[in-house]
Amino acid sequence: MEPIAEIKTRLSIEDLVGQYVQLKKVGRNYRGLCPFHNEKTPSFYVSPDKELAYCFGCRKGGDQFAFIQEVEGLDFREALQFLAEKAHVELPQRTPIQKKQASRRERLLELHDDATSFFEKQLWETKDGAKVLDYLKKRGLTEEIIKKFRLGFAPDERNLLYKYLLKTEYTKSELLEAGVVIAKDTTDQSECFDRFRLRLIFPIMTASGKVCAFGGRAVKEGEQPKYLNSPETPVYHKSELLFGFFQARDAIRHERAVICVEGYMDMLAAFQAGTRQVVATGGTALTEQHLTLLKRFVDTLIFAFDQDNAGRDATRRAIELAIPQDFTLKVARWAEGKDPAELCQKGGGEAFNKIISEALPVMPYLLATSAERHMHDGQIDKKQAVAELIPFILLSPSPIERDEWLKEASSRLGISVNVLYEEIKLGQRQQRSPARRTLAGRGEAGSHEQGRERKITEKQEYLLGLLLTYPSSYGLVYHMKPEDLFDDFELRNIYIHLVNQYNQISEGTDFSLSLEGVEPSMQNRVQLVSLYAESLLKELTEKAAAAEVQEAALSLLRIRFDSRKQQLLSELRQAQGDEQERLLINYQALLQEEQSLTYGQKS
Ligand SMILES: [Zn+2]
Repeated sequence: MEPIAEIKTRLSIEDLVGQYVQLKKVGRNYRGLCPFHNEKTPSFYVSPDKELAYCFGCRKGGDQFAFIQEVEGLDFREALQFLAEKAHVELPQRTPIQKKQASRRERLLELHDDATSFFEKQLWETKDGAKVLDYLKKRGLTEEIIKKFRLGFAPDERNLLYKYLLKTEYTKSELLEAGVVIAKDTTDQSECFDRFRLRLIFPIMTASGKVCAFGGRAVKEGEQPKYLNSPETPVYHKSELLFGFFQARDAIRHERAVICVEGYMDMLAAFQAGTRQVVATGGTALTEQHLTLLKRFVDTLIFAFDQDNAGRDATRRAIELAIPQDFTLKVARWAEGKDPAELCQKGGGEAFNKIISEALPVMPYLLATSAERHMHDGQIDKKQAVAELIPFILLSPSPIERDEWLKEASSRLGISVNVLYEEIKLGQRQQRSPARRTLAGRGEAGSHEQGRERKITEKQEYLLGLLLTYPSSYGLVYHMKPEDLFDDFELRNIYIHLVNQYNQISEGTDFSLSLEGVEPSMQNRVQLVSLYAESLLKELTEKAAAAEVQEAALSLLRIRFDSRKQQLLSELRQAQGDEQERLLINYQALLQEEQSLTYGQKS
């Protein structure tokens, strides 16, 4: 058997998806909350018969491979390896020639892997490396952790890595693309040198554990910049990756919670101390993409950024991004001056755990910090504190949470809830809150037209799904023009295909649609469309199904006629004389056609 087919038979889609999503059986299918977007009512369906896992809300999903690609953030090749391992299916080894032809992405990842080995060798086997190793151990890291995260050392040499990788048969342009070397002159790339020199190297990995970038910490005191990272490359998008995520993932999934720290060392120290559900932003700001990734795995998000001004600002920005995504948010606080790595080193895992377990829920945290920021001569400046808090409260998607937060703010600041509501109204008039800024950035208003089109496509899919499930009800729509029912080209073709086959069978025989000779993309669409109808239907009697078909078809016809009427009317408004006459006749004909079609089945 082909590896792909074998993997599919060994890993049932419902078991595979069940490891990520809580599924409930509904009829022949399963249903759950979509892992790809944030929702409260489930629109994510898994069909064992069709080997499909699909969300009708955000339209993501597909077979086992598509699902894993999406949920784990892998490309197809990586998903294949991931699933082959899970299913204990051996993949054929690739020949050296195939390896040469491997995609650019894969080449770049291999290059990073080779560079990582180079840095590791420098750390473990050289005299200068030994000093860095010593430093790491003094900071409390064990050899086991250093090896697990593949830390390394970039020596104080102009182009040692460059020469090494050229010999390992990478091209100069690949090295430049990966960002591990820099051309001395951007126009003349003849002279290249290593990006990382005399630095401690933290490999940054993809969700599947492939090194795709490096963070380098200066070894010499006072060297600037203290941290130097790889640039954005085809394999490294810093807004999507979190340091340590690959190693922490099992713990994150298990705990349904994640702790977010700033530095690489903080992450490593916490992980080693036994708090394994931890990731580091690595000095870049937390982004919406980071949060979307984490949302697939956790409900609770705990920020443990540094307790200095920069850390506090980063925390507030992170909170602003995370509230709309509906996390349970907490913020850890401790005495200023120490970072989590130092806490772990001094007090061990217990000290860090204590701080995490005492983390404040988000509203008490915001209340406490706002009060501190706006405290003058022992008095809180309530006006400023309220102005600062309200935008955060408004970001919550949950009315209950908003209400609770307002009550908390009211009791903490000694202002009645009514007055806070007044402030909100005032603020909305003045439109100056970060809440607005964030929400406007989402462009929800602009997508109105798209939403309408999506709805119409969904109606068409529903009708076609019904017809596929109950082909005998086709008789109810046969007098309607296919192009009036389906303006989606693919759906119309499937419909015509269905009708042709249905017309060829003799009465009373059971009918099932044959997809032989139909393009794969259309076959997929057929599967999706029938699953969509199944997701919306309980088992229907033939009669009830007929009524659904009629209703769905008529509603589509009405839309079609409405838009044609609109079109004609706007042309009429511009037209004069004969032209006007002609359009009027057309318009009347259209009205008649509409009537006869709508009531056609009655006459
Ligand atoms: Zn979805």
